[in-house]
Amino acid sequence: MRIKKLSAGDFIEARCTRCHEVLNHTIVAMVGEQVVRVECNTCRGIHNYHGAKKTKEPSSSTSTRKAPAEPRKSRKDPGAVDREEWEALRPAMNVDKAVPYVMSVKYPVRTLVSHPVFGLGVVKLVIPPNKMEVLFQDGKKLLRCA
Ligand SMILES: [Zn+2]
Repeated sequence: MRIKKLSAGDFIEARCTRCHEVLNHTIVAMVGEQVVRVECNTCRGIHNYHGAKKTKEPSSSTSTRKAPAEPRKSRKDPGAVDREEWEALRPAMNVDKAVPYVMSVKYPVRTLVSHPVFGLGVVKLVIPPNKMEVLFQDGKKLLRCA
């Protein structure tokens, strides 16, 4: 009895995923003595080797088991958090004191700015050299500043 040892480059009959037929394939990759990838000699497609024998599915299917959906109270979309913060600050916002937003001006943190598009906002963070984070009703925006 002759046991043929397979190695990459050998021909093997395999089911081609494209041709949908059992055809001659060239072994492309092996793991140990297992053929893992083959190239179809007909369509030249490289695909995983599907042997004739149906091997038992490894326990990998158990890992796809869905984790129980846990209720997450902390899951709040950041936009809502920003909006809440803005709503909280809103009463303290004095429109008359809002500084029109101009790109070439430097604004200290907590300055109330009035933006032509985003409306009233509060400078939350100054990011050198020329950016600042401003909280608007729509959420935080990164704006250019001096
Ligand atoms: Zn093929």
